[in-house]
Amino acid sequence: MTSIWIKSPLAVLAHAPAGIVVRDGRIAEMLSGGQQPSATVDEVFDASRHVVLPGLVNTHHHFYQTLTRAHPEAINKKLFDWLVALYPIWARLTPEGLRLATRLALTELLMSGVTTTSDHHYLFPAGLDEAMDIQVEEARRLGMRMTVTRGSMNLSRKDGGLPPDSVVQDEDDILADCERVIGRYHQKGDGAMIQVALAPCSPFTVTRSLMCACGALAEKHDCRLHTHLAETEDEDRFCRAMFGMSPLDYLEDTGWLGPRTWLAHGIHFSDSDVARLGRHQVGVCHCPTSNMVLASGQCRTRELEAAGAAVGLGVDGSASNDSSNLMEGVRHALMINRLTYDASVTHLDALRWATQGSARCLGRGDIGEIAIGKQADLALFTLDELRFSGAGDPLAALVLCGAHRADRVMIGGAWRVIDGQPRGIDVMELRAAHGAAARRFL
Ligand code: ZN
Repeated sequence: MTSIWIKSPLAVLAHAPAGIVVRDGRIAEMLSGGQQPSATVDEVFDASRHVVLPGLVNTHHHFYQTLTRAHPEAINKKLFDWLVALYPIWARLTPEGLRLATRLALTELLMSGVTTTSDHHYLFPAGLDEAMDIQVEEARRLGMRMTVTRGSMNLSRKDGGLPPDSVVQDEDDILADCERVIGRYHQKGDGAMIQVALAPCSPFTVTRSLMCACGALAEKHDCRLHTHLAETEDEDRFCRAMFGMSPLDYLEDTGWLGPRTWLAHGIHFSDSDVARLGRHQVGVCHCPTSNMVLASGQCRTRELEAAGAAVGLGVDGSASNDSSNLMEGVRHALMINRLTYDASVTHLDALRWATQGSARCLGRGDIGEIAIGKQADLALFTLDELRFSGAGDPLAALVLCGAHRADRVMIGGAWRVIDGQPRGIDVMELRAAHGAAARRFL
């Protein structure tokens, strides 16, 4: 195994002015001013031009949607109309399309400083039985950590749901594949590269029975649960009409109100809802960019954190963002939260959501922070572009001046981005292949 000293960074989101020593894939030492590593290192990386962050953690996405960005049928709509316009178009998804979409989204995330991501994949039209396998292969190819979520939809229009029949599956098929994917890929413990979570799509696309069955399966295999909840007022009305209760009551009624669960969006919660979420240690993934694009509202980040809930950050699907850049998401989080609360929301809050908060959402204590013993997952940015010239505080500059692209990214002690380029990926070739695949969705 190897060791590296990331020496004398320009700034670092931790106390380590003389740098960080990585050994065997973990953070072994954090050096104070003038301090040297305790033993010889194999490599010294001069970080004097770099601002060092913990690798960012993205807790909500739909990779396949990179194929329908800025789609003319869907732009300028609110969530339900946007979904109804896109479901039949998404039904054209093929295994090769999903592979390219996954590779593209992972590459974009990685280049923006993301070292761990989840993807909420709930779309299984005929022929896409191996969607999870494709995603695992692509994450391994890039060396990224990933929580693949075996998503699902089984409540179609004929039963009162929102999606058409062509994109839903039977409950038995869904549960059998959940078991298969967990058995094949779910890793436990520190340093896991692939984890599996179960993720019925939303209250308006799955049955109550499937929610309950997924909850029981997650308990059996000790994996996490994920779903969309409280994203829009339309969803609130749907739950009251369909189930006779609020979205959060529905979550509790189906056995999901607990520390195993993290929710996407979590916008329309009352004060008592927020207190319940905190009491039960539920995580909430704040998706600022998507929430602004679809005019959905603002996650109650401050109240949720004060109540004890984990608040993470996600880019959300690339048809409602439309990019997969989590550093941009950090900037958007700072701005929308300042508008909602006040100027006491800081760049450090936004960075905490994208790192420690997101790691908590995924149930991981081994990532999301630069501290001794944690995985050596790091994102290094330079301030060399014109947008940073004249900046005083380097950490604040990343967020306020709008950093987009990491210069170096390390995952488990291995460099995965060098000089802004992802290792093992020809970016222009990927752009051309993905662009060609996306044309069948127009
Ligand atoms: Zn989503």
